[in-house]
Amino acid sequence: MPTNTRRRVLLKLSGEAFGGGGLGVNPDVVSAIAREIAAASEHVDIAVVVGGGNFFRGAELSQRGMDRARADYMGMLGTVMNALALQDFLEQAGAATRVQSAIAMSQVAEPYLPLRAIRHLEKGRVVVFGAGAGLPFFSTDTVSAQRALEIHADEVLVAKNGVDGVYTADPKTDPSAEKLETVTFRDALKRGLKVVDSTAFSLCMDNKMPMRVFGMEPSGNITKAILGEKIGTLVTN
Ligand code: UDP
Repeated sequence: MPTNTRRRVLLKLSGEAFGGGGLGVNPDVVSAIAREIAAASEHVDIAVVVGGGNFFRGAELSQRGMDRARADYMGMLGTVMNALALQDFLEQAGAATRVQSAIAMSQVAEPYLPLRAIRHLEKGRVVVFGAGAGLPFFSTDTVSAQRALEIHADEVLVAKNGVDGVYTADPKTDPSAEKLETVTFRDALKRGLKVVDSTAFSLCMDNKMPMRVFGMEPSGNITKAILGEKIGTLVTN
């Protein structure tokens, strides 16, 4: 169990955000995200799981003829590039940072070692988890839930691009969609709300790990969510 009393969060950042809508890493976007995380790291233990959708998504590549597992490994390698970019900008913003990778890559990242990750957090370092779970057929949403549980986080914070919480339907396609202040995991699963993948919802539900889904815009929202402001939608049991 945690030995300190600081709030501890697991922040999930999508790869799409890192690309600023395009392929690869947009340094201006990543540096703005890093500054928000660094500001909050004075007060809160922060671990981050980064996605890789700005490089590759395994499911998309497999639809175009690649073997799914190999395509998923490419997706995981993309998340490591994002993790290194985030580490760089976090350090520029003054936050000591360690990257841990679920795929062995000793020149660029520590291996994923949960007890060591906890130790880093206790020392006030930001920990960035790359390479997802190291397993094909998983998503970084699911990994966020798993890592949050293993490092004894208080909450999973899912930062979204272009949507500011959980809606009754997809707000991009259904004008009658309404934003929810709170929703249970069971309800989100029953209604097929896809803002976060169903495996992540199930893992949080089975282990009573609360999740807050919020929009990255306007700037300042990431800091607010980390500090515990009630923005977006709270998903709980
Ligand atoms: N991926 C995987 N196993 C994991 C995490 C990620 O196979 O544990 C692969 C998968 O192909 C996925 C890609 O990495 O499409 C990028 O991750 P994700 O789609 O979750 O990123 P995001 O949509 O958050 O940018």
